[in-house]
Amino acid sequence: DVDKPREECGVMGIYGDPEASRLAYLGLHALQHRGQEGAGIVSSEDGEFHAVTGVGLVSEVLDQSKLDALPGSMAIGHVRYSTSGASMLKNVQPFVSRCGGGTIGVAHNGNLVNYHQLRSELEGEGSIFATTSDTEVVLHLIAAGSKTGSSILSRIVEACERIQGAFSMVLMTGDGKMVAVRDPLGFRPLVMGRRKNGAVVFASETCALDLIEARYEREVFPGEVVVVEEGIVVSSFHLTAATDGDRRRSCCVFEHIYFALPNSNVFGRSVYESRLEFGRILAAESPADCDVVISVPDSGTVAALGYAEEAGVPFQQGLIRSHYARRTFIEPIQSIRDAGVKLKLSPVKEILAGKRVAVVDDSLVRGTTCRKIVGLLRSAGAAEVHVRIASPPFVSGCYYGVDVPDESRLMAAKMSVEEMKLSLGADSLAFLSMDGLKKSLGANDAPHFCYGCFTGKYPLTP
Ligand code: SF4
Repeated sequence: DVDKPREECGVMGIYGDPEASRLAYLGLHALQHRGQEGAGIVSSEDGEFHAVTGVGLVSEVLDQSKLDALPGSMAIGHVRYSTSGASMLKNVQPFVSRCGGGTIGVAHNGNLVNYHQLRSELEGEGSIFATTSDTEVVLHLIAAGSKTGSSILSRIVEACERIQGAFSMVLMTGDGKMVAVRDPLGFRPLVMGRRKNGAVVFASETCALDLIEARYEREVFPGEVVVVEEGIVVSSFHLTAATDGDRRRSCCVFEHIYFALPNSNVFGRSVYESRLEFGRILAAESPADCDVVISVPDSGTVAALGYAEEAGVPFQQGLIRSHYARRTFIEPIQSIRDAGVKLKLSPVKEILAGKRVAVVDDSLVRGTTCRKIVGLLRSAGAAEVHVRIASPPFVSGCYYGVDVPDESRLMAAKMSVEEMKLSLGADSLAFLSMDGLKKSLGANDAPHFCYGCFTGKYPLTP
């Protein structure tokens, strides 16, 4: 959806299963919502790495014959959404590098805030970069460490101590180790689970564990380096936070608002429960005189259910989403107004005609899609349209692995709520307040989230 921030990646790691690459494939399917422009798996058999990467959806990049070419009991996988200008094949992960002391593969979710500085330092020392991805810096740092003669594990940890920003990574080494690392502030999620046969699984979200019948054990904690070797899981190291002041975790609150699937548990919380509560508190803060509550599917649906429950107004499916539009859409048809949004969303006239409608969405970014949705609802006969957004106004960019439209294009960064309401053509508009968002998360969890895109205050200076 071009009118939403885009999560840039999802990662998988499987250790100790003869079907490792197939399990990684299934896990990546479950994480497909985190990135649809590139996918890849690297497996390891007796220290030899095998890789398949490509541009497209998981099912387009990998098929039966390609999975047959990925033998071994260890595999890491990656799905990515690439930012503009960087969608070329060579940026598709996992990356593999041969450096002194062996081969290493890495799959990374996040964004390094000191990438440019590290890259110019490394280039000054003679490193030659093959991609425009910040992840490549990690491999170069690990390779540079080989001059000291230290072990591959020490070099991974030393590299992770030098990088700053958001990184949830799974690495695989040629000597049979799998390493999962999460940055000290824990911006992006990473969980660990286990299959019945003892295989260890790492994934961005628990929905991937569920699909491959792995039991959720716990998060990889912020700053933790988990090493799996000879079937034994050891939490060996703890990275130092790169901030001077507040070292509390700063998990991305947008994972709970929009990115993660509602059936996932992210940062130790149910995404479904979070969204339900966002909707409930939004209804308590900003009630609407309405006959029906509908959602912008799919991401607004759980919050809309919470809104309807609290408001005591029936929830109905007033908009139906086509799940096939993305791949069929070629060119907007000039003679049909808003063809793009109509391909994705269809109003149900029987639910909407003559009704005062409260429509709940998860977030409002540029406002372009929301404006079209208000128009769709009116053309389907809605008597009034009240827009309710289950997050605060989105006013600033993200430096930690989320692609956000330029600030000048963020509706809330340049307009008041009243001006936005008029621009959208809605009868009323309200957002979940910052206090309401924190209240929804609870007094224990709320201080441990990043709210940078809603406040412009960032936990780690870019
Ligand atoms: Fe998430 Fe926003 Fe923080 Fe980025 S700035 S990590 S999108 S909460």
